[in-house]
Amino acid sequence: MVTSSKDVALQVIQQAIAALAKWSGFTHPTLEKEYPEVTRAKEILGWKPDTNVGTLRLVFDSVDLPDEPKKEKIQQNYHPLKVIDNDHQEYPDIPYPLDSEPSSEQQKAFQLEINQALRNHLQDNWVNLSLLMLILEKFGSCLSFGQSDIALVDIARTTAAIATALLNNPAEEISLIAGDLSGIQKFIYTISSDGALKSLRARSFYLELVTEEVVQQLLSRLEIPRTNVIYAGGGNLYILASGTENTKKVVQKVREQFNTWLLDEFQGKVFLALDYLNFPVTEIASAEFANHWSNATKNLALHKSQKFADQINKFIAPEDSHEPCKVCHRDDVEPETLQPLNKHEPDSVLACEICCSMFDLGSNLFGVKAIVRSTSDNVDSQFFPLSFKLPAIDDFPGVNIYYYYFKNWKPIVPESDTVLLVNDWNLDHYQFKHFKNVSTLLLGNYGKENKTDENNQEEAQGFLRAEEMAAKAQGINRVGYLRMDVDRLGQIFAKGFGKNQTLPKLAGISREMSYFFKVYLNSLAEQRNVNIPQKITQLSDKNEKYNILFIYAGGDDLFISGAWNEVVDFAFDVYQCFRAYTGNNPDITLSGGISINDAKFPLYQSAESSGDAEKAAKNNGRDRLGLFGQVFKWDEWLGTAKVTNFDAVNKNYNNPETKKPSLLGILPFVQKLEQQNIGVNYARNFVRNLLITAQIQEQALKKFEEDNKSEEALSTRYYLHLPKIAYTLARLPKNVLDDNDFRTSLKSPYNAPYFRAIATWIELLNR
Ligand SMILES: [Zn+2]
Repeated sequence: MVTSSKDVALQVIQQAIAALAKWSGFTHPTLEKEYPEVTRAKEILGWKPDTNVGTLRLVFDSVDLPDEPKKEKIQQNYHPLKVIDNDHQEYPDIPYPLDSEPSSEQQKAFQLEINQALRNHLQDNWVNLSLLMLILEKFGSCLSFGQSDIALVDIARTTAAIATALLNNPAEEISLIAGDLSGIQKFIYTISSDGALKSLRARSFYLELVTEEVVQQLLSRLEIPRTNVIYAGGGNLYILASGTENTKKVVQKVREQFNTWLLDEFQGKVFLALDYLNFPVTEIASAEFANHWSNATKNLALHKSQKFADQINKFIAPEDSHEPCKVCHRDDVEPETLQPLNKHEPDSVLACEICCSMFDLGSNLFGVKAIVRSTSDNVDSQFFPLSFKLPAIDDFPGVNIYYYYFKNWKPIVPESDTVLLVNDWNLDHYQFKHFKNVSTLLLGNYGKENKTDENNQEEAQGFLRAEEMAAKAQGINRVGYLRMDVDRLGQIFAKGFGKNQTLPKLAGISREMSYFFKVYLNSLAEQRNVNIPQKITQLSDKNEKYNILFIYAGGDDLFISGAWNEVVDFAFDVYQCFRAYTGNNPDITLSGGISINDAKFPLYQSAESSGDAEKAAKNNGRDRLGLFGQVFKWDEWLGTAKVTNFDAVNKNYNNPETKKPSLLGILPFVQKLEQQNIGVNYARNFVRNLLITAQIQEQALKKFEEDNKSEEALSTRYYLHLPKIAYTLARLPKNVLDDNDFRTSLKSPYNAPYFRAIATWIELLNR
């Protein structure tokens, strides 16, 4: 009998489970004789017969970007021993790192928990690859194997991938397939219409499924199991395969099939760059691997620059233009195929088929638990499926694929090919006998539901709409849009680990990032108080679900909307939680931008302005937030800064008597005034005067920049506001004035740069 890649992968995963069983004192089923490919793969990755499971050090601690100035050594952190679980709640809790190794009692308790789970689930499931993989993810994400900062799940998965790539591969060449769906921004953000927010959410979900389908096509054509997927999400994918002629051909054909279909369906807005890079398999565990990874990514950029080269004839062929779709503006569809966007509204705008299906999907996405992939167009489902019609290319047959979605985890679909369970960590669900190829689909999918409205059954149990978000906001009725992403992620992947930049580490770090953005952000939005780290700076300590909607949350970035003040609060939460989650490593930071708009303001423009705010934050040096048209470091917004701009000025002009105020930064002042509840009139006056002060300050600074800088003028520029600030303060209520800290701190030149931001924030909260 010929060995299949699934057999090989299964054997590796069984061996990893056996290691887990050994650690927890459970007697696992007998292991079969080892395949030579498995032996070789283990040899390459350093998996020895005496390698044992142990506690896991935080992988982020090892990240050290070489071009950054040396900073104090970061503390060594450990993963808490905590199973990833959502048995009794929607999302698992965020596991924050520990500053010391889990105690032997904690280890014993965790061993007992694993022992129990294996006892309950291994019987009859020893060949259920999906279930074994989930067990490894649940328990093996916080345990090491061999190296202290490599997780058991990552070593298992990468060993399986290499072993399958070695099948019938005497040259031992491995292929790193990299893919990137570009144009996502265009596809997602350029729409305009009523209910756009909902459609936007659907569009980003749809693109996740397109990525998933590219993965599915590659896996089935290359006949390799899912363990070979190193990363897939947010339009990016990395897969390992044999470095053979067949891989080359499959990559080419799959790319052509998808781009022909994408061109047809989206008029070239979305494009799939897909390529492979071959190298000797032994380099996977060496520092060379980082170069291969970067080169594979660079090759994609080349593809993007030659977009649709294979389909050029079709691209330039003249086409009739018609009445455009009112949502995406395409004008190439027959006018009679345009349909009313919202079937429940008599005067709804006319839109193309894709836009209509996105609108419907947006209404139904709430609470999707399972997604069934099938080649059958006739599956019994309440909702209309999403279809992918890939054309035949040469000897590659065309294929029609449908994705059906369900709001219970247990759909019984005989024609199913794969079942994706959304954010589901429940082991029982993976041993359901009717499922074939079940796997987890991680999805940043939090959205506050709207209250059932008797008059509007269509909207009942859907996501909050923009108008509702604005109405829920404190102060001014506005919607906030937040975009955020990890700074220098490319560099972290290319050289963050120095010589230890190996495949298992990269797999580990991308898995941890995915967990944060796709899984734990949901937890944070849903149950704030159990998911924030111990010390957190916050405006309000509310514990209700956030009134926000995730439009996209994936690989290392997010785009959300919501009640404006909650979006601001959430951004602060995300930043602080992310820093705690990554062990406060100074090389791993986030930048973000927020725009605040009227609910009726076109969505694509809101998306653009939050994008601009984020760009400004990145361009000003990263680790920053752009908000209210200004950019400051996060710790300046939060009032936790140890060093500020003024320190440098102060030092230059030799003014050591200027002490740091006890309140420093933006949030402390907003917080104080919010808590004191000073009344609308006081607030209005304070805001007006503070804005005038800020203006005096800004004009002074500008003048000094233009003029020839005299030492004296420069050293006084941060003091010019003092008379006006004294006036502003004198007009506050007595209880605020009695607060010595508040009074002296606001007068401090250290706080001078923050006046405008403080005033704007107070104003919006009290409008
Ligand atoms: Zn359209």
